[in-house]
Amino acid sequence: ENKQTINFGAGPAKLPQSVLLQAQKELTNYNGIGISVLEMSHRSADFTKIINTTENLLRELLKIPDNYKVLFLQGGGSGQFSAVPLNLIGLKEEKRADYIVTGTWSAKAAKEAEKYGKVNVVHPKLDSYTKIPESGGWAVDSSASYLYYCCNETVHGVEFNFTPDPKGPVLVSDMSSNFLSRPVDVSKFGLIFAGAQKNVGCAGVTVVIVREDLLGAALKECPIVLDYQVQAGNSSLYNTPPCFSIYIMSLVLEWIKNNGGTEAMERLNIQKSSLIYDIISASNGFYTCPVDPDCRSRMNVPFRVGSSQGDDALEKKFLDGAAKLGMISLKGHRSVGGVRASLYNAVTVEDAQALANYMSRFLKEHQ
Ligand code: PMP
Repeated sequence: ENKQTINFGAGPAKLPQSVLLQAQKELTNYNGIGISVLEMSHRSADFTKIINTTENLLRELLKIPDNYKVLFLQGGGSGQFSAVPLNLIGLKEEKRADYIVTGTWSAKAAKEAEKYGKVNVVHPKLDSYTKIPESGGWAVDSSASYLYYCCNETVHGVEFNFTPDPKGPVLVSDMSSNFLSRPVDVSKFGLIFAGAQKNVGCAGVTVVIVREDLLGAALKECPIVLDYQVQAGNSSLYNTPPCFSIYIMSLVLEWIKNNGGTEAMERLNIQKSSLIYDIISASNGFYTCPVDPDCRSRMNVPFRVGSSQGDDALEKKFLDGAAKLGMISLKGHRSVGGVRASLYNAVTVEDAQALANYMSRFLKEHQ
């Protein structure tokens, strides 16, 4: 057993130990029925119970209003980059959509949407993904079908700490990397989606929370498995869903509930991320985070070591030293380099403290 390893990966990411142990315990014989969830029909009474429990836990944790559907789909967050325009851009005849582009993931989503309609980026193009453009200056098109944004940009570490005002069109958000890390007022949104593999489980399932009255506007070329109305009409069982991923999600949601829900997660996430940002701020430029302080992510903390451009040799030494202590997956995304510490719900305060301690020691030794 490898108890010492601390996984700071950006996703797939750390899961609560208790979830892994329960899944292990139940792997070959779920709930005494003699077979594994991996072997179970998605139409069996046992699986029906699992998927219903998962939905009910999500509804409870996020206080999802009754006029919203909860879907469990495949295709990942990227599948939703296509599904969102395919289902929603036709809400208005003009087929226009507004996008806020604050990082890699919203940029990809906007590019995909261009296949299906007219995309308007509501602010001047950013030359670096380190801030959220002043919302007063957004050229929001009131005749757009929706306004889209990514609530937490996983690569760049840019997180919205406010909910954009779409001024008419419905609001759509990619919450893949900060889902259930803080409370959210679902009623402000037309649609929220999130891949599970960061905060709520393993890869394979993507949650879509969509307001009922938005269903039924899919373009005729929308693949049937991505059609929200079809999936909602079949309780996400139009075809075989990612059964095991949904089961793992149910265990993670139970864990979040038992640990105080989204409010408690938020408190812990503030505490964990502050531990790291405080060291960066007090390091006199030895560590630098390029992101504006008012939109620094609680989930993904990107930083450079040695100088604001990053000192390659020192960063390598930092990562090697961390790995020797069991702290893994700290390398920044290949598009930005440097270091990135991802601090999702399952990462504990002790884990973050271990990293903070290492950063302090490394600073003293190399300053
Ligand atoms: N959105 C965000 C915010 C992400 O972080 C990611 C993946 N890291 C995606 C979308 C794409 O998700 P997937 O790999 O499941 O398609």
